[in-house]
Amino acid sequence: MTTLGVVESATARKDHMRFITSALIVTFVLLALTFGTRAQQSQTSPTPSAAWDNNPLITVQKEGGDPARKGDVKIEFYGHDAFKITSPKGLTVLTDPWRNDSTGAYPKWFLNDFPALRVDIVISTHAHFDHDAVERPNGLMVLERLVGQFKLGDIEITGLADKHQCDSGSADSRSKTCPPNNVIGFDNAIQIIQTGGLRIAIWGDNRTVPDPSLDHYLTNIDVLILPVETVLSRAEVDAIVRKYDPKAIIPAHYFLNGLTTDISDLESAGGWVSDQEKVHPADVRRRDSAELTLNTAALKGAHPRVYYFGNHFQKK
Ligand SMILES: [Zn+2]
Repeated sequence: MTTLGVVESATARKDHMRFITSALIVTFVLLALTFGTRAQQSQTSPTPSAAWDNNPLITVQKEGGDPARKGDVKIEFYGHDAFKITSPKGLTVLTDPWRNDSTGAYPKWFLNDFPALRVDIVISTHAHFDHDAVERPNGLMVLERLVGQFKLGDIEITGLADKHQCDSGSADSRSKTCPPNNVIGFDNAIQIIQTGGLRIAIWGDNRTVPDPSLDHYLTNIDVLILPVETVLSRAEVDAIVRKYDPKAIIPAHYFLNGLTTDISDLESAGGWVSDQEKVHPADVRRRDSAELTLNTAALKGAHPRVYYFGNHFQKK
């Protein structure tokens, strides 16, 4: 190495250090601003702190909470099967964050990366790219394919092990995707989130008829989040709704303008929603934003009600 080379690298190091210092200052200011906004928007959040760490979880751990206690539950749509659910105490759960397939087996489905939003708990129903990008959001906790029960503060999550809708098109696909000897990607764990006195079920891409031992958990559901038109046919969705009789349904996993691609083969949920309007003319609620606040009083008498986010989804 020449002397000149040493001088150059020393200067480069100094520039590099200056860059890191400025980047750290910018990051800190951005973090402070972001957190300030979060604190202002969410008065009910557990003690916010400037850093992104588990302080809110420590607070909730000390205070405890009751998932059966009635309160407002906020549901925000992040597209596909991703929903952020905020408990009355301010704990947040994000379901099934998505990404594009990296193996080359599927074409590009999503136009963007999943936003790096901060949440307390990230859950996923199964190991498919459009449901398991658990590293994309900033989650304090990740519960992938949970089976059994988890409880913290005013949230309880119950994971029910079952199977993904399988592909019986050919003998080869049947042997890989259909039980009993399916590959792991065709396992699915339905997740039931109880909070604010509501039971919200995330179906994932589960098969139409789960094992009968799960029926006991799937009755008395307040909000059922179901894939519409893509994983399940209209007739299959209707059969599930008839059998479990949820108070409300939120369609998911459908083609979204500005989020999913034409080559994804995802279908619009519009036809199914219009059909529901014919059956239940007064009880389809088309949302004009990506969020919805529910509580037990709001759902009283719903039988079943459809909340449809249409093309509205949160971007950050
Ligand atoms: Zn899927």
